[in-house]
Amino acid sequence: MALPYDTKRLDDSDEGIAEAARLILAGEPVAVPTETVYGLAADATNADAVAAIYAAKGRPSFNPLIVHVPDLEAARRLGKFDQDALALAADHWPGPLTIVVPRRVDAGIASIVTAGLDSIAIRVPAHPTMRAILAKVGRPLAAPSANASGRISPVRADHVLASLDGRIAAVVDGGKTERGLESTIVAATGGGLRLLRRGPVSIDATEETGDKIEAPGQMSSHYAPGKPLRLDVLTAEPDEFLIGFGPVAGDQSLSASGDPVEAAAHLFDLLHVADRSHQPRIAIAPIPGDGIAAAIRDRLKRAAAPR
Ligand code: AMP
Ligand code: MG
Repeated sequence: MALPYDTKRLDDSDEGIAEAARLILAGEPVAVPTETVYGLAADATNADAVAAIYAAKGRPSFNPLIVHVPDLEAARRLGKFDQDALALAADHWPGPLTIVVPRRVDAGIASIVTAGLDSIAIRVPAHPTMRAILAKVGRPLAAPSANASGRISPVRADHVLASLDGRIAAVVDGGKTERGLESTIVAATGGGLRLLRRGPVSIDATEETGDKIEAPGQMSSHYAPGKPLRLDVLTAEPDEFLIGFGPVAGDQSLSASGDPVEAAAHLFDLLHVADRSHQPRIAIAPIPGDGIAAAIRDRLKRAAAPR
């Protein structure tokens, strides 16, 4: 099958950065150097652009993504920072530390970015190229590592191209990244700080609180609807809110045309709509296909599992 892009290799000059910003504002994810690893950056206010990250990476499941902003002021427009979070930000931003805080309802961030959660992971990066692109775009950027799913994190533009050539519009070549290790992640969502991922920044305070590192499986980092969810449904029961796809219209549809990328962009919004509806149960149409469709099914299977 022909790959969708003739991937451009942009340099980190003013022109390269301007072109990267133009592509991002047009809804294209672009690979960008940061001080940790190369990120695949998309406009975090545009659900379709963020869904395109998943399509490009072939990621088998949805994870909440880190949102990159230029400074603390921009961060505070997205999330609520308590004293602990503010102290962390003062000590480590700009830099390779991600802080998870309660999300503001008016943050304007697409729900696929936070995978439907009411918390948000935010970082102020230090890398001059990433900072220049953030300034030029003027919007928060969601950016997981710029590699195809299952491949190691890229620290050079060549590594990005090794797995994403032809799958993304462009990569900005900023040479080798400095740290080569994903950011440290700390949660400040109430009740002290919790270390969610070790990384370049050591957070003494977290360990001093005596909190254990949460294993990924235990992490409450996944939104699940509060109601029972039934999968692969063509016809709903009378007490079910039916989420449609393709030929199954449902009460509301993820994508009437059966486009899985569009469906991914709407998935968490529609799960919330179904959760808030007057129906006590949720049903969802079959979403056939591989790639991002499989990621959607994986997410739904977890949401449907008994808790
Ligand atoms: P990546 O962007 O691929 O480096 O991974 C982002 C990491 O941040 C994942 O391990 C997520 O589980 C974690 N993360 C992002 N947002 C949240 C959140 N709201 N709550 C907890 N963990 C988060
Ligand atoms: Mg990764």
